[in-house]
Amino acid sequence: MPEQDYYEAAAFWKPDRYINPDETERLTTCAAFITDDAQSLLDVGCGNGTFLTILERQRPAMRLNGLERSRTAVQSAICTSEVLEGAITAIPFADRAFDVVTALEVIEHLPYQVYEHGLRELERVAAKGILLSVPYRENRVFTECPNCGCRFHPNYHLRSFDEHVLEHLFQQFDCAAYEVVSIDDYWLAPVLRRLYRLLNRHQDYPKTALCPQCGYTRSGGGHSRSAPAESASFLNRVRRYLRDTFKARLPKYKRKNWIIAYYQRK
Ligand SMILES: [Zn+2]
Repeated sequence: MPEQDYYEAAAFWKPDRYINPDETERLTTCAAFITDDAQSLLDVGCGNGTFLTILERQRPAMRLNGLERSRTAVQSAICTSEVLEGAITAIPFADRAFDVVTALEVIEHLPYQVYEHGLRELERVAAKGILLSVPYRENRVFTECPNCGCRFHPNYHLRSFDEHVLEHLFQQFDCAAYEVVSIDDYWLAPVLRRLYRLLNRHQDYPKTALCPQCGYTRSGGGHSRSAPAESASFLNRVRRYLRDTFKARLPKYKRKNWIIAYYQRK
């Protein structure tokens, strides 16, 4: 099943995969939403546990658990909290088992048959609050499988979100607050990306992409897809230097990239 295999790529779960200034700002903003009276938290779709490691430092007295469908991610967990392998459609905990339930960069990935069921499960196990983070008003650019021609989002982002969509997600919870997190981007980025795709049409299939229709990957295998590594050859070092020098001179702006929403039980 390609959709499930996609998340087994080791490249997504390297220890430092989500440790960079942008992701750290997103995750610390998320952590700030968790109220002082919360004593337990379940992070659904916790990946390699990066968010849990932040809470382990900030809230050492809190009971923390993770749930993750990807076996590779569970095996790569960098947190000390317990992470169970499991699906959002069957969260293996009792009703209202945790004060707060988080699902960060998760629900944009949920297939049609899973989406509503997953949201109901988050509501069921959350006693007081639910915290979500999703891409903000994402302009989803699709890639085309060179093998079968299927067009799909290479990161399996299956829907876009804004404030209006987020307000109406839950039946038993109201949206209490939200915050948009911005990242630096280049003014010309959309034009340059479009130009790059036109010039590199045959390479416009990311190394981590996995066609949902035929299962094609550039590396040929599903489970061993590794992070794209740049060769250390002299030519590549020169190319990288020129690229970085050019990019450093481009004007930047703050682009709204993620939205974080906090929900309270009605
Ligand atoms: Zn294909």
